Amino acid sequence: MSNQYKFLLEESKLPKAWYNINADLPVPPQPVLHPGTMQPVTPDFLGVLFPMNLIMQEISPERWIEIPEPVREVYKLWRPTPMFRAHRLEKALDTPAHIYYKYEGVSPVGSHKPNTAVPQAFFNKEAGTKALTTETGAGQWGSALAMACNFFGLDLEIYMVKVSYHQKPYRRIIMENFGADVYASPTDRTHFGRSVLAEHPDSPGSLGMAISEAVEVAATSNGAKKYSLGSVLGHVLMHQSVIGLEALDQMEMAGEYPDMVIGCAGGGSNFAGFTYPFLWKNFTDGRKTKVIAVEPASCPSLTRGVYAFDYGDTAAMAPIVKMFTLGHTFIPPGIHAGGLRYHGMSASVSALVDHGDIEPRAVKQLETFEAAVRFSQSEGIIPAPESAHAVRVAIDEALKCKVTGEKKVIAFNLSGHGHFDMMAYEAYHHGQLEDFEYPQAMVTEAMTHLPKVPAMA
Ligand SMILES: *Cc1c(COP(=O)(O)O)cnc(C)c1O
Repeated sequence: MSNQYKFLLEESKLPKAWYNINADLPVPPQPVLHPGTMQPVTPDFLGVLFPMNLIMQEISPERWIEIPEPVREVYKLWRPTPMFRAHRLEKALDTPAHIYYKYEGVSPVGSHKPNTAVPQAFFNKEAGTKALTTETGAGQWGSALAMACNFFGLDLEIYMVKVSYHQKPYRRIIMENFGADVYASPTDRTHFGRSVLAEHPDSPGSLGMAISEAVEVAATSNGAKKYSLGSVLGHVLMHQSVIGLEALDQMEMAGEYPDMVIGCAGGGSNFAGFTYPFLWKNFTDGRKTKVIAVEPASCPSLTRGVYAFDYGDTAAMAPIVKMFTLGHTFIPPGIHAGGLRYHGMSASVSALVDHGDIEPRAVKQLETFEAAVRFSQSEGIIPAPESAHAVRVAIDEALKCKVTGEKKVIAFNLSGHGHFDMMAYEAYHHGQLEDFEYPQAMVTEAMTHLPKVPAMA
């Protein structure tokens, strides 16, 4: 048992239902507010952007939501994903800790993102949607949704952050291979994009801007197009729970239970997907697993942001959510973990951090790449730069155990591989990466632009 390297589940063990943390939240969820009126949104308002079946999932209090058979059929192309015991890394670190990682990089596009792309495409198809719009940063989300839309016969329009569109063509080509239309955002296709270009013709774009464009296109399509988001929202986090539900079974196969679970957090989806089933055990089963969310020191929404109501996008058109935020006017520095550069954080992750159920940590870029290289030299897998944040903290915790002699069980989510991020590794190897800590003065300034919501909210 103890020298086993990988824990593989039979296809029949693929979860039949998603876990919805709404049922177990220790604090009541905060209302989502309309960006114009600042009153709680109605399903009608959300219905402009999302199909009703996904809206019902978003607000459902049910703990378990059945995974439809057509979605499970597609999941079976790569799920259940493997869980590994990192024996070789343990040895290299000379730690008594046991390190496990769940690997989501085995999906066709190399990350956890298809876990929600597939059900979102499915439920849109069920609801009669013909076309979707979305944004993508470096292209991980766009490639996942492109694959899913291709499987379920939906058209897809993708607004890709301009700097990535030009610097990272491979994922764009994957999206186009699946039949999606990809545009470099800001574009001249939207009112918002044109307004940005008028002021900043050379704008490199940002995730917040691309969201604004994709939202505008769906909202002004008279119902012809719906919008899809790859992180942050409750139903997205819930779809990702297949990761942690499988991991619970796999830890049981390994005959151990984690003392801590770790995930990197951009909008919170892979983190929540992996850790919420363990939090469920904490809440309902008396388990005491420590839950750690890791973010970049350059985009530190959980560790340096403010827990406040803020817009989900740059143009202040998306709903207002209570979350840890750096301000919707945040323009992220150009770090090499594109998926971790969102200004906010999902509402439930934010609430659980605020309540003390999740511990947030920020790590710097150089130490993150150092950890990623060390991990790959032991385990063979080159992590996505986002996932490397979780690797860093897992290694830090294992090294603490070396000092204390504790045999802790550490489990983390390796959310994706880094095969399309080689230029970032190249820059690291040539000493061209720098650490950047987001200046406090910029956080303070951005807070002056938060929406002034009525006290009732
Ligand atoms: C998109 C992405 C992330 C960050 O998004 P979350 O919603 O926070 O999970 C992390 N890792 C990988 C590999 C990604 O593609």
